[in-house]
Amino acid sequence: MNPDRWLFTVQTPFSAEAFVNSSLVVGDVVMLVDTGIVGKSYDLIAARLHELGLSIKDLRLIINTHGHSDHVGNNGRFVRASGCLVAAHARAVPWIDDREVAAREIAGRYPDVIPYTDAIRREYQRLIEERPARVNMTLADGTSIRAADDVVFRVLELPGHTWGEIGLLEENERILLVGDVLVPLEANQLIIYEDADVFRATLRRLRQLLEEGVVASVVAGHRARLESAEAIRWIDDILAMIASIERWTLECIGAAQKPVPALEVCRYVAGHAKRNPDWRAMVTVGGELARLEQQGQLRVSDGLWQAV
Ligand SMILES: [Zn+2]
Repeated sequence: MNPDRWLFTVQTPFSAEAFVNSSLVVGDVVMLVDTGIVGKSYDLIAARLHELGLSIKDLRLIINTHGHSDHVGNNGRFVRASGCLVAAHARAVPWIDDREVAAREIAGRYPDVIPYTDAIRREYQRLIEERPARVNMTLADGTSIRAADDVVFRVLELPGHTWGEIGLLEENERILLVGDVLVPLEANQLIIYEDADVFRATLRRLRQLLEEGVVASVVAGHRARLESAEAIRWIDDILAMIASIERWTLECIGAAQKPVPALEVCRYVAGHAKRNPDWRAMVTVGGELARLEQQGQLRVSDGLWQAV
């Protein structure tokens, strides 16, 4: 079925320049992929449902692409208003179920490097409703989700940006709905990823699906729908950024006369990328340091890093 008849992507406000997508899938059942930031997003999605002759009570299922705050903020409100279920990848569940856990494990991950202050906790949590809904169903690679006889999604696991990241591939129209696996590069924040090698493998898998025509177009979390050539260019740009972050990490430590604290590496990498050296940057740089240590390129002692 023509996707314009079942896919309705609502751009909801994130900041002055940026937006978050929430996609309504309207078939025999009505589903919502991601719920945006608490507040106005809810009203915009509700208004779109009304335009389509539906109400919030028709909503049966929320699917979260991953557990970051800007994608799950209205889960609780939609669940209370509709009684719908919530589905996500198993590794996203702790963050979606409990915003205290989410804030601590993301924004407060390296409290010895960037202190986990109340201000940082609030900065993360202000995007999520105070009473989040719990996840009812977990999704894994190959899970099939039927919206209508000819609108059937296959779940793709896309780990890297977060561990519990999924995409939804509608196989008749070859449209892929994703969260932040295609992570915006133009923000003033360093891109977030958990593990460079895992993220690279996911991006290469996605690139191959685009090249082979298995995926013809993509709706990413913070962009309008893209055709495959544009998505491939974006993937290549992300891969180049990951390579740069790895290079700057090793360069900072290699050039130093003495062992280097993680915060200095974070500032070096963020500085070269012209991004803020905040907790987001530290998630990425901390992951890089751990990975390079595991691979035997770096070692750490008393929080100071040096080359092997
Ligand atoms: Zn994200």
